[in-house]
Amino acid sequence: MNFEDLIQDVYQKIKEIDDKGETASYIPELAKVDPNNFGVYISTINQFNFGTGNCYDKFSIQSIAKVLALILAYRIVGDDLWKRVGVEPSGTAFNSLVQLEADKGIPRNPFLNAGAIVVSDVLLSNLKNPKEDFIHFVRRISNNTALEYSNRIAQSEKDVGYRNVALGNFIKSFGQIENEPSDVLNFYYDLCSLEMSCKELSELFLFLANNGISIQSNESILSESQSKRINALMQTCGFYDESGEFAFKVGLPGKSGVGGGIIAIHPDQYAIAVWSPKLNKQGNSYKGMKFLEEFTTRSELSIF
Ligand code: GLU
Repeated sequence: MNFEDLIQDVYQKIKEIDDKGETASYIPELAKVDPNNFGVYISTINQFNFGTGNCYDKFSIQSIAKVLALILAYRIVGDDLWKRVGVEPSGTAFNSLVQLEADKGIPRNPFLNAGAIVVSDVLLSNLKNPKEDFIHFVRRISNNTALEYSNRIAQSEKDVGYRNVALGNFIKSFGQIENEPSDVLNFYYDLCSLEMSCKELSELFLFLANNGISIQSNESILSESQSKRINALMQTCGFYDESGEFAFKVGLPGKSGVGGGIIAIHPDQYAIAVWSPKLNKQGNSYKGMKFLEEFTTRSELSIF
């Protein structure tokens, strides 16, 4: 498969389409990003790497970091994690409070804000210096010491994080958060503020296409069965209330963020990252979704 020609072709085609999305203005700093950025980068397990457009520019990965937090928590507490957070798609918005009342503070899945806040609580209880330990973990598994949080983005989100404050307090009221909600949220904002380029993202996530083993260092980051479960969760819950549609049109496990980034994994083949800041109505990158739909349709490689 000549991924280079295919990516160039699809990139040029999607670049020209009318972008009907909007940048995520509810976090003020995200609204300042140039909406015309568009980058793509692929890393394969055969060590082919290729990118185009703004693939080396860093952006706010937002919810994509929820996968990294989940991976670290899963490594530390193992299957006990599923007592604190479910593995079902929710059918509700990423920041919804609705189901938590009936579910007594157990979020439906770790990629909802509620779920990621509980995962953050687990990390806070288990790490000595959560903020430092988390970034060291991400740097180590990616073999990339250049990865950083953005204090500017974290502060911007904190300034307007009313719904997240509500979620944290609501879950705490059910006794499902151990630490002070404000400490948990500060850590949650930090992890959402991580910045990466498409190149960095696809290189970092490639181990999920390789049964949990890092291609770069040969380190086992997750067991084969854990890696399968993370991919299953990304497949069923990775795209907010559009996860079914993403499975239908693209057919890969993946995760998006409100910064306009998407990471998608083809097990045993590749990881691909796309970034375009304008989001569709469900909160996924408008052009990113279109790119991946066209790319997977034309490459005719499928996990189904
Ligand atoms: N930090 C964002 C929030 O809590 C994450 C949302 C996202 O990317 O889905 O609203």
